[in-house]
Amino acid sequence: MSIDLHCHSNVSDGRFSPAEVVRLAHSNGATVLALTDHDQIDGLAEAHTAAQQLGMRLINGVEISVTWRSRTIHIVGLNFTYPNPALSDKLAEIRSGRLQRLQKIAERLAKKAKIEGVYEGALALAIHPDSVSRTHIARFLHENGFVASKDEAFKKWLGDGKPACVKHEWASLHDAVAMIRAAGGIAVIAHPARYKLSATALRNLIEEFIDAGGQAIEVSSATQSLNERLNLALLAGRYDLYASVGSDFHGQGEFNCIIGKPPELPPLCKPVWHLFDD
Ligand code: AMP
Ligand code: MN
Ligand code: MN
Ligand code: MN
Repeated sequence: MSIDLHCHSNVSDGRFSPAEVVRLAHSNGATVLALTDHDQIDGLAEAHTAAQQLGMRLINGVEISVTWRSRTIHIVGLNFTYPNPALSDKLAEIRSGRLQRLQKIAERLAKKAKIEGVYEGALALAIHPDSVSRTHIARFLHENGFVASKDEAFKKWLGDGKPACVKHEWASLHDAVAMIRAAGGIAVIAHPARYKLSATALRNLIEEFIDAGGQAIEVSSATQSLNERLNLALLAGRYDLYASVGSDFHGQGEFNCIIGKPPELPPLCKPVWHLFDD
């Protein structure tokens, strides 16, 4: 049984359509998949149709952008009710600043790097204009030879604290967890090791998350090392949190991950899927 509870389609910043993502996961042996697009649940209908045809279980998912102590944190929501107009409306509100942010990033790149056409170029790569992300900008920069790789785009320009990184106010941690819970879902801290928090700050984040109603952390993300996963398994144990697994797949060649085959959970973790009803 292979379970993958974190991946993206082109409804947000993935490469493939929701149906293609489901088919790829299935062909890699996944039996349970959650599609978790950034601040967007519109891909779930198409994903459900594809999963039904294959006899695969699709879990409703989302990855919500949060600002916590001036940093961007991602909170995954799993197994909420869908369709869900109330949740869709709240997510649309979170997405609403993305076009304006793109404009600001494009202005910085024009001024500081003499790179023109970023606004139109990134938008041309996004299906939904209000879901345009730094991933689309990185792809535009790479595909047009302004950087040697997407990784370089983040390291040189777009990453946190880099010259073309524009601060953005996303949802609060409390509101993100509350909207997932109100929708009947389970809130999960996505890839906790990726934020480079001190041990104390990570504990503070987990404690605030639990106070808000959060129940799980992503222990086994393909974007976290074995050491990080073992450390997170210990933290999950200490806080009695459930543990989640995910590839964070965006497309072949983006991050080092295989859809449908995330790393296994370390022993003694409580799998988050034990909270799903049968
Ligand atoms: P945004 O939501 O627009 O701020 O974009 C965040 C997205 O950028 C993440 O979900 C990742 O898909 C992508 N990303 C962030 N850092 C990197 C990186 N170093 N290399 C490649 N993709 C990245
Ligand atoms: Mn992404
Ligand atoms: Mn993320
Ligand atoms: Mn993700």
